[in-house]
Amino acid sequence: MASSSKTSALLSSDSANATTWQNFKRLVSFAKPYKLGFVAAIIGMLGYAAIDVYFLSQLKPLVDEGLSGANANFMKWAPLFIIVAFTVRGIAHFIANYCLAWVGNNVVADLRQKLFEHIMSMPVAFHDQTSTGSLISKITFDTEQVLNSVSKSILTIVQQSAFIIGLLGLMFYYSWQLSLIFLLITPVIAVIVSVVSKRFRKVSKNIQGAMGEVTTAAEQTFNGHKVVLTFGGQQREFSRFAKINKHNRQQRMKMRATKSASVPIIQVIASFALAFVFYAITSDSLRESISPGTFVSIITYMTMLLRPLKMLTNVNSEFQQGMAACISIFSILDHEKEKDSGDKKLDRASGTLSFKHVDFSYANAQTTTTSDKEQETKLALSDLTFDLAPGETLALVGRSGSGKSTATSLLLRFYDATNGEILIDNTNIEQFQLKDLRKQFSYVSQQVVLFNDTLANNIAYGKPEATEAEIIAAAKSAHVMEFAEHMEQGLETNIGENGALLSGGQRQRVAIARALLCDTPFLILDEATSALDTESERHIQDALQTLQQNRTSIVIAHRLSTIENADKIMVMDQGKIVEQGNHQSLLAKQGAYAQLHSFQFE
Ligand code: ADP
Repeated sequence: MASSSKTSALLSSDSANATTWQNFKRLVSFAKPYKLGFVAAIIGMLGYAAIDVYFLSQLKPLVDEGLSGANANFMKWAPLFIIVAFTVRGIAHFIANYCLAWVGNNVVADLRQKLFEHIMSMPVAFHDQTSTGSLISKITFDTEQVLNSVSKSILTIVQQSAFIIGLLGLMFYYSWQLSLIFLLITPVIAVIVSVVSKRFRKVSKNIQGAMGEVTTAAEQTFNGHKVVLTFGGQQREFSRFAKINKHNRQQRMKMRATKSASVPIIQVIASFALAFVFYAITSDSLRESISPGTFVSIITYMTMLLRPLKMLTNVNSEFQQGMAACISIFSILDHEKEKDSGDKKLDRASGTLSFKHVDFSYANAQTTTTSDKEQETKLALSDLTFDLAPGETLALVGRSGSGKSTATSLLLRFYDATNGEILIDNTNIEQFQLKDLRKQFSYVSQQVVLFNDTLANNIAYGKPEATEAEIIAAAKSAHVMEFAEHMEQGLETNIGENGALLSGGQRQRVAIARALLCDTPFLILDEATSALDTESERHIQDALQTLQQNRTSIVIAHRLSTIENADKIMVMDQGKIVEQGNHQSLLAKQGAYAQLHSFQFE
């Protein structure tokens, strides 16, 4: 819960404070490159509405001239007219929908790409606090939502408004008196209808709230199944559930009744409008000025107006839905990217590394209240100081949670030190460009990430320009060749989603080959916790030794057997160094290291 409130705080940004209109304008700016398509779509929509209005305008001549036989020509041309009108309408429909979709899909693809790139350049702290699921849903669902809602809203607004304006024009043209009556009475009816339907919606929403009770009750009892059995509470649970069940049935019936009543009641109210028009026509002065055609037309127009009016009133909620999704996307785009303020270039570091009094606490770390009631954030690293010369190996040991991984995360600048500094070649790492800094490191972790690609491409992930010979050399040194040779296509074998075809030991060897190929001055090694079979183990240790040669290495060690040769060993606890030295000197000290050692070997 705490993390979700933090996430929302993290996401609150300019876009959330901006008005819907400002956000809409921003969305429109994405559509600028596709202006022409948009203009074509609008022409299509207007054409579609125009044909509909024109078609309806022929109703009066049909009744007064065609059906009455006054104008024989009218009926002769009517069939051809119908076909032509529908063909043109069909073309307009196609243009409107196709062009709108073209613009919309292009905008969404651009938005998606931008979002994807932005999320990938966000600081690690952001990813720590935001669930991957919610980010994926922004890329897939929210963008889709924007597309659907906004294009549907535009289509409705343009097409239906044009249709309504056209129909109203026709009505006034044929009989302004009847139209006026209509115009006066519609708002009254509209207000009544909207009040009534709002009331209905509220009622049914309240009822819906009661629906969750059944699942909650059932879930609780099932979860406590054993407790119920042990204490003989079945009968009590049965009757408790029966009560909730009955309540739920009653509520459902209430909701059905409300729903069934709402439609006829609204229709009865609307019928008042029609009745009033009929009543008005019976007044003599009006009856004389109105032909049968005019009368039929106006009544038809009135009923035809209902649907587009309803669509227009619903458009706002549709549009708001799209804009909500849009705002959620913009809030990510407005989020600051990872800071890359360093301007120093670094081609290849010589390999010296020092931590000088480094403190660090995570942004979302827990706080503890100290004796004098001051809040103090828990430090993940505290006063970490050490130096490494080129080619030296430092092993970090300590319980899980002692800060070993945090130290390596700071090196890669996934986070920045709160106090103190980290130096590479005597320069604070914050002064280097991020890309240059990170290319000095290879990282081999116990959770090997592999891509759905060939073995060769997975090995060359950090150096795509590597030649085949280089890849093969790396594969040989890392003992990848041993198993690759048994695969049908050798290094060109596709290893499946996250390397599904490979065993744990094989995956690690691929990771080592990847690091070997990159040939970076620094190596970060997060050793495997679980023992592999001896054959794999031997190969991996072999490969790791090759990898560590001539590289400054930091090894997060879980098994002490592998670090006896390390130049420096630091024992960490709660972010602090509690002991340091080499294997021999630490054993001789009889302290924390010696204790860990005896745990593992006894
Ligand atoms: P180790 O690698 O030794 O197991 P870590 O460096 O992962 O230890 O963790 C050090 C401390 O920092 C722990 O108390 C852990 O709970 C905390 N921590 C680690 N990662 C995060 C994170 N992303 N956000 C907040 N706290 C973290």
